[in-house]
Amino acid sequence: MEDYKKNKLKEALIYLKYLGFEKIDRRILNTPQISDLKKEVDVCSKCRLYKGRTKAVFGEGPSDAKLMIIGEAPGEREDELGLPFVGAAGKEIDFIFELAGVKRKEVFITNVVKCRPPGNRNPKPDEIDACNRYLRDQIKIIDPKVIVLLGNVALYLVTGSIGGITKSRGKKMRYLSRIAIPTFHPAYVVRNPGSRDLVVKDIKEALESIN
Ligand code: URA
Ligand code: SF4
Repeated sequence: MEDYKKNKLKEALIYLKYLGFEKIDRRILNTPQISDLKKEVDVCSKCRLYKGRTKAVFGEGPSDAKLMIIGEAPGEREDELGLPFVGAAGKEIDFIFELAGVKRKEVFITNVVKCRPPGNRNPKPDEIDACNRYLRDQIKIIDPKVIVLLGNVALYLVTGSIGGITKSRGKKMRYLSRIAIPTFHPAYVVRNPGSRDLVVKDIKEALESIN
């Protein structure tokens, strides 16, 4: 940092101390604001998925949410509106939230990749890696207590390989030093309604680890 900026910062800190502030959260100083990050994602071209998108889907929810839900990738409707889980899988997740006793507006909902893969194919590892910086920054800024990973693509973040959700669901793991609980993707629940109760159970378990 240039000297004059350092002096300005020092002056500002002395003034804050004078006002009665004793501590400053370091994250304010070295992480971007959520709105800046969204602006970056909206125009990102770090992987090939930018070519086919209508709108990037950053995610939505409170910037201090205790629970974060990570899906796979935007689908057709999400791509049109720029919002996560607004299509058929979105209806299902809303129903699951209701059964688990959590309000959607209290949860930060996002995806492993922010742009829609062509024909809804799974995102490829190099696309997941390219997009991961945004997810990491979202987690850093929002600082959720617990993360729910929806389906095999989100589970890949922890395991580094695609597959295994049936074995892993409901098991507490860690992702970026947070508790992470994998569960079935709501699109799977739409096709297999018998699995809904397990997803509700996993989300309840996540809520319990917040308190
Ligand atoms: N499926 C996902 O994984 N994410 C969405 O946002 C919508 C459908
Ligand atoms: Fe950028 Fe992620 Fe979209 Fe790829 S998927 S273009 S990395 S925002």
